[in-house]
This record gives sequence, C-alpha cells and structure tokens, in this order.
Amino acid sequence: MKTLVTNGIVVTSTTSFQSDLLIENGRIGAIGSALSSPNATIIDAAGCYVMPGGIDVHTHLNLEVGGEKVSDGFYAGSAAAAFGGTTTIVEHPGFGPPGCDLNYQTNLYHQQADREMVIDYGLHAVIQHVDRAVLEGITLLPEQGIASLKVYLTYSGRLGDEAIIEVLKTAHAAGVRVAFHAENHAIISSLTNTFRARGHCTDPGLHPASRPDYAEAEAVFRLIQLARAAGEVPVYIVHLSTAAGLDIIRKARRQGREVYAETCPQYLCLNETCYQQPDGLQYVLSPPLRRQEDCDALWDGLGDGSIDVVATDHCSFSLAQKMQKGKTDIFAAPGGIPGVETRMPLLFSEGVVKKRIDLNRFVRLTATNPAKIMGLAPQKGDLIVGGDADIIILEPRIKKTISSRLLHQDVDYTPFAGMEIQGWPTTVIQRGQIVIKDEQLKVARGAGSFVQRKIQ
Ligand code: MN
Ligand code: MN
Repeated sequence: MKTLVTNGIVVTSTTSFQSDLLIENGRIGAIGSALSSPNATIIDAAGCYVMPGGIDVHTHLNLEVGGEKVSDGFYAGSAAAAFGGTTTIVEHPGFGPPGCDLNYQTNLYHQQADREMVIDYGLHAVIQHVDRAVLEGITLLPEQGIASLKVYLTYSGRLGDEAIIEVLKTAHAAGVRVAFHAENHAIISSLTNTFRARGHCTDPGLHPASRPDYAEAEAVFRLIQLARAAGEVPVYIVHLSTAAGLDIIRKARRQGREVYAETCPQYLCLNETCYQQPDGLQYVLSPPLRRQEDCDALWDGLGDGSIDVVATDHCSFSLAQKMQKGKTDIFAAPGGIPGVETRMPLLFSEGVVKKRIDLNRFVRLTATNPAKIMGLAPQKGDLIVGGDADIIILEPRIKKTISSRLLHQDVDYTPFAGMEIQGWPTTVIQRGQIVIKDEQLKVARGAGSFVQRKIQ
C-alpha cells in the first residue's frame, strides 16, 4: 500500500521545504520533489505543513486514584489525542497496591491498552518503594520495551534521597531513563495542614498557595545533586512549572549536566488568576498554575532550548468529580486537567503563529526530543526515510475557538475554553494508515500498538 503526499511543506526537526513524501508499507519511502508512484493514493497537502505526528510522553489516560477514575480511558483518550495530531503517547500508570512489584501496574495497563488504544503507545514504569526485587526489576525493564520509569518526590509513593540515588545508579546502568515529579513533599504537606487547621478550605486560590514555586525549585535542585552523587547520571524532570526551577536547570546544563526538562501547555498558556474564576476548582492540578512571569520564563526556555519537551500530564478527572470531592475542601479534589487533544494546536497557535518558536522548534518540542529522550527514536519523532510514517498534515489558516463541545476528550470541560486557535492538524496518519480525516476517526478500537522503546 502506497500513499503519496504532494505539494506540502515538509517540516522536519531541522529544515522546512516544499516537497512530496511517499509512504510505503507503513514507512516513509522517499522525500523529494515531483515524486511519482503508480497506484499510490494521493493526498494533496498544498498550503499545509507535513510534520511528524505528535508524541506526548506524559499522559494519564487510564488513571485511578482513591476510588476516582479519569473519565476518558484508553479508547476515548487516544482518539482525542489523534484528533489533536498526536500519534504516540507514553502513559504514566498510577500507583499500584502497596508493596506491589515493579511490573504490576505496567502489566495491568498493557492488557487494557492493547484492546483500546487507537494510536501507538508506550508505558513508563512507576516506582513506589525500593528493595532488592524492585532494583532487579529495573534491570529487566529494557527487555520488556519499557525504557523509562517515574519517581515521585511527593504523594504516598514518594522516595527518599537514599532510595533515589540507588534507583538512579541502577537505572543508568540498565539504560533506563528516570523521570521525576519534582516538588518538596514536606513544604506542601506543612502548608496544606496549616490551611486546613484554619478551616474553610473552599478557596481554590489555596491550591497554588500550598504548592509554592520554591517547593519545585528545592526539589529540582536536590535531584540534580543526587544525580551527581549517583555518578553524574541523567535526569528528566516532568511538568516544570516555574521560573525558579528553570533557572536551576539552566545553570546545571551550563555546567554540562544532562538534565532534561518537560513543560505542558497549561504552564505556558494559563496563570494563577484562573483560581479566582467562579469555576476555579477546575484548575486544581499539580504543580499548580503559576504567575504570568513564570509562563513568560517557560516560553523563553522553549525558545532557547533549555526546555526539551512539551507534554500534557493529561488527566481528565471531570469537573463533576472535582466539585463533588472538592467543593467543601479544595485539597480533596482529584487533581489534573485534560489536554491531550489541545497540545499540538495550542503550541502551534501560541508558539509558531505568535512567533515565539519556529516550525522546526515546534517539531523538536512535540515529537523529536520526546522520541529521542524516551527511546522512540529513530523509528518515531522525525520525518526520515525508513522511519514510521506517523505524519500530520496541519492546515495553518484554520481558526477554531476551543470548547469542550469542539473536542473529543470524554470529559465535561476543557481548561482552555475560549482560546482562539489558528492552525489545526486535519489529516493524521500512523504507520501509513489514515487515523483522522474529514474530522472522522478512521481506525478501529485497538488499532494502536505497543512500542518497544530503547534509549539510544
Ligand atoms: Mn505529576
Ligand atoms: Mn502526571
């Protein structure tokens, strides 16, 4: 089966040029001008950008915490991702039962995802305690195609400093990337307890107050020092939200340290004034939304390359769930916001159209860098001959106003409602197969595949 994408502007991680692109047997067969291939299906991409499919390496499509489950699940969540131009996700499972082994959650998620996902996916492992069996389990992750694991510095499954050093040493030796939720647990729990002792925790503005920027900055700084002690090993920091944290990362990178940083559209496009809105409870997510100065600093970080990845931390607890649990105590609201469908359009519109980043930077942030860092490259993440034909055709003039009705996420709100977007992926192709066209999902439940990842 062959498909020829003609007349578009091909945008790779490094260059953009008018070109045709031939898809053969699910892979990119050729990129060049005036390609011809008898019997190929033609897609005319005149006036559009032909780009690598988006890769979102931080999702929670299937999370369950404290008896509350996110509303979309793998099928609706992956379909929503596809409608927004994302062709691969890497899912972070939630914590399993106390004391469970390292494979418990990934095995469970793998079975469910295989039947449901409409796009390709990988899984991060999650650590919630450390002992000899868990450390041995880390060394076995690569042969299962799981090239990364997540460590929390807060929440019930958080690790202490000694355990983190052990995990970093073992993971690095095994070729496993370690991702960190970096917030200081003691600072957050102390401030939360103080607010709770005063009673009346109904103001969503208490959420950012309980998780100040210095809680993130302290954790980022400490992690970098722990990684030095573990033998100068690399670390990946998820959902960076503050200027203070970014300053520390910049300094470490200037010193030659291998520190990778990810941020998310909510930390770029929304700020803490959202908590003063009547529906401020919907913005309970962690880390919280920050000051506009932090948003501006993060945009600078994208522009100068200090931040490598834009992911989403998509976690679609519904507004109804948040209201039910959090109306009388905002600290009891399930945290997280949906965003898997809006990541690519938001970053294109707010970033490329507003000239904060160029087209190739857009590709690097949304596809190439996450693919390289999380072990999906060279199969995925860029437009190269021989690579998977995961491709989006983005129509740069389309204008849309974001609303939950416009989107396919199975959740009753979007935190980006009302934002005016210019540019949207109209055709989405995975391994040569059309996933989205004419605003329709064209593949069946379960069409996505588990991707064996390997850190190069
Ligand atoms: Mn997190
Ligand atoms: Mn997360």
